[in-house]
Amino acid sequence: RLAAALAGSGGPGTTRDGHAVALLANIGGVEDAIDAGAQDLEGVGLFRTEFVFLSAERAPTLEEQVEIYRRVFEPFGGRRVVVRTLDAGADKPLAFADLGPEENPALGRRGLRLSAERPDLLDTQLEALAVAARETGADVRVMAPMVATAEEADWFSRRVRENGLAKAGVMIEVPAAALRAEHVLRDCDFGSLGTNDLAQYTMAADRMQGELSDLLDPWQPAVLDVIAAACEGAGRAGRPMGVCGEAGGDPLLALVLVGLGASSLSMAPGKVPLVRLALARHTLPQCRQLAQLARTARTAGEAHDAVRAAASAEL
Ligand code: PEP
Ligand code: MG
Repeated sequence: RLAAALAGSGGPGTTRDGHAVALLANIGGVEDAIDAGAQDLEGVGLFRTEFVFLSAERAPTLEEQVEIYRRVFEPFGGRRVVVRTLDAGADKPLAFADLGPEENPALGRRGLRLSAERPDLLDTQLEALAVAARETGADVRVMAPMVATAEEADWFSRRVRENGLAKAGVMIEVPAAALRAEHVLRDCDFGSLGTNDLAQYTMAADRMQGELSDLLDPWQPAVLDVIAAACEGAGRAGRPMGVCGEAGGDPLLALVLVGLGASSLSMAPGKVPLVRLALARHTLPQCRQLAQLARTARTAGEAHDAVRAAASAEL
């Protein structure tokens, strides 16, 4: 029955009562783009650009970057492609953007903090993205990783626009930015929740340590509370808030995230069909009820169990 239901569904993500939730892919380079571009999904919600350069020994030139971005954008035609600027440092070190050893790399000069110290790298990347966007006609939007404050978001969005790109956003993956999303997003076009880092920083649990996976569980009610605050802040600012962390690819959690206010979900492309089906079987008010159930639970396990019991069967 599930296979038949999956075969019979497709197209843009929407709840049973017609509330649109864009279903997008997380990609890490040209091959992923070709695979995802051929699938029934609405575009890219997270292109992790640092993945392309993990083995590069020197900074890629403008021309080299234009060529790569063009090949990433092409498979998506006019669909949206959300590009994240280099998220170097911590778990994703880049040889050409290394500021030296740090005691606590996850709390150090990573992501946008590194871009602030190396604006040359950021500007070259933004310029290359603008050229490739113009040449391919893709709906390119750019977002910054590891934003903590409104000043950082303002600085980034100004640089994005100065480089000729139309839409600037920020990842919401630091609890400070989540709690202050209304203010952080004022000069940005959108926010995107990075639930992997948001769980790490909310729970003070290193995402690189498998032994801590219980704490890193996105069903942790505290993480859901922080996500809810971020969505509410985005709503007050009149900005859409998507999700691009792994949590969005879990069909049950996807329902909860939509209930909390997420406007799009980005995930490994193979996860899109089940998430689409889960959405198609629930109304937005039902998603809100599931979110409420999860948030009133005392533990991650209770939240997960309560939602599993209340959601429609077969998920
Ligand atoms: C996240 O932190 O949830 C995220 C999407 O980014 P990354 O996993 O690349 O840090
Ligand atoms: Mg992250």
